Amino acid sequence: MIIDSHQHFVRLAKHPEVEGFRQAQLAGRNLDVPNISDADVAKSLEQVISLMDSRAIDVAFASPRAKAMATHEGTPDQNAIWADLNNSLILRACKLNPGRFVPVGMLGQHPSCPSAQVARQIERWTNDGFVAFNFDPDGTGGRWQNQPFTGKHNYPVFEAAQALDVPLVLHGSESINKNFPHTAVQYLVADITGSVQLMMAKDLLRDFPRLRFLIPHGGGALPCQIGRWRAIAKYNSWASPDEILGNGNVFVDTCVYNDLNMRMLFDAVPLDNILFGSECDGAFPGVVNDETKDHYDNTRRYVDDSKLSAADKNRVYAANAQRVYPRASRWIKA
Ligand SMILES: [Zn+2]
Repeated sequence: MIIDSHQHFVRLAKHPEVEGFRQAQLAGRNLDVPNISDADVAKSLEQVISLMDSRAIDVAFASPRAKAMATHEGTPDQNAIWADLNNSLILRACKLNPGRFVPVGMLGQHPSCPSAQVARQIERWTNDGFVAFNFDPDGTGGRWQNQPFTGKHNYPVFEAAQALDVPLVLHGSESINKNFPHTAVQYLVADITGSVQLMMAKDLLRDFPRLRFLIPHGGGALPCQIGRWRAIAKYNSWASPDEILGNGNVFVDTCVYNDLNMRMLFDAVPLDNILFGSECDGAFPGVVNDETKDHYDNTRRYVDDSKLSAADKNRVYAANAQRVYPRASRWIKA
């Protein structure tokens, strides 16, 4: 079995009525939530399912479009409605395609939103079948004006995530800063910042020893900079990257787009901490790598071409995802 642990329903998020609702909301016109037909939901997934089939990906963990989460905008109440709309669409898409998708939610984070309210969203959507949640370690649109996300102000979120056994995916969102395009910089800054803050936050992982974080995009800079972080961790008495990986608190995915970086990922990070991900039809749809004549985001080929044994590939392709996301089992056909 092959599980893509990192996918976004981008085309669904781009439905004109969904985008129109958010634009109206942010303009102060709080319209009724749009009623998207099952036919439109199904149509938005045709391309994704076709790509999954061509790459022999059985199941994908799907969440709302990351850029469109953008919960630095609006108000806490508006963002709760926005998150509910997106999550309800994800849930419907998963139910319409049994055995193919597993729902991962977004949260109505906002700099002024009490984290207890975000924790209640985790409880509500987990009860409806969600298995994990994207959690933006910034939440201020690239301004990075909040306190580190690992602080006690977010403890209600961590209490809920640990109690319900749902991982938090540290995924960036929209950037208001034109120096930091969202997919090229802001997401990776979120990955790097998430990794380093977890190394710095000894209290957090002591207080929540079973909390699990997923750092997307190959762990950000982890494959290239793990040596630097080992050094600084020793220098500053932080937890080392090896410690937070080894303790089972931090995991990464394989969303890196060439052979060399995939090999570096397998070298830097223990295999039990690596989950297959490809953002199938998400980040850069249809863009072809001239060397492979295939889509850059067909990360399957880089894993397939690696020197991992068949048993190790199985860990990366499926077993790790099933272990790290225990609630996914109800969505996956045996
Ligand atoms: Zn993503």
